[in-house]
Amino acid sequence: MAKNSVQFQKGCSLPKFLKAYGSEEKCREKLFKYRWPDGFHCPKCGHIHYYELKTRQLFQCTQCKHQCSITSGTIFDSSKLPLTTWFLAIYLITQAKEGMSALSLRRFLGISVNAAFKMKQKLQHVMKNADDQLVLEGFVELDDVYWGGKRGGGKRGRGAPGKTPFLAAVSRNEEGHPIHMRMSKIIAFNSSNVTSWSKKHLHADAVVISDAFNPFNCLSDSVAFHGKINASKIYENPDNRIFHWVNTVISNVKNAIHGTYHSISAKHLPRYLAEFCFRFNNRFYIGAMIKKLICHAANTRPRPSRLLKLAEQEG
Ligand SMILES: [Zn+2]
Repeated sequence: MAKNSVQFQKGCSLPKFLKAYGSEEKCREKLFKYRWPDGFHCPKCGHIHYYELKTRQLFQCTQCKHQCSITSGTIFDSSKLPLTTWFLAIYLITQAKEGMSALSLRRFLGISVNAAFKMKQKLQHVMKNADDQLVLEGFVELDDVYWGGKRGGGKRGRGAPGKTPFLAAVSRNEEGHPIHMRMSKIIAFNSSNVTSWSKKHLHADAVVISDAFNPFNCLSDSVAFHGKINASKIYENPDNRIFHWVNTVISNVKNAIHGTYHSISAKHLPRYLAEFCFRFNNRFYIGAMIKKLICHAANTRPRPSRLLKLAEQEG
């Protein structure tokens, strides 16, 4: 998909958002549609007929008598916050130019710090699930990156203790414009980790360019073509733009995390990378990100706090 053929879509204005999602009733109606686009399905037996217990806001399956609410079994399950607050958070996270930290959400939404952090982590988890399904195709720039440790260590810090390794990849179209990106924390750089990452995130027909880092050698088995370039020579020539986009997104993500989120521990890094990727990969359709995120949230299983405290899955 050429960037030139894509019109950047403007974001959604606040009045327009409030018209669609400004009351609890409107939010419930939308969530019903996004959760069950083909009509109600009992979460227990799959039956399609139900009674509505209006006073308790529950649906009861006419077959197995199972009762569920609009939010049970979704990421909004057991939250004390109204849907209007959740959806407004989704609006702010997707429409604000630089995203929104948990502390800013707390201020805008008037909720507790604890509730804001939990909400942000749950929505980042949804963004990760949604964005992980995207596979990079075409021409892909790939690089290894390290988070933490000595700031600005870059390549010199390769393998330095205290640093968290992650992979960064950007796909480009024929005009050289960036289309999609993927950033994933990995446990360590070795052939088996790079192979399993590439099988999940790179199309088998992709053409991948990286530097001559040994763990990348395995890529020639999983993609159509893997070109290795001696990076030190590349950087001696300022006109060479072969790794331009991957370097740009790496410095953008590092600046964004330092600027907006201050310090992030390694265990939370995958969620922040996922948020960054989700917003980047949907940047041509800013307004549509609201519905997309709500749809994915409606179809993401609950994430109890004890799981949120653990590290997000690698890759
Ligand atoms: Zn049922």
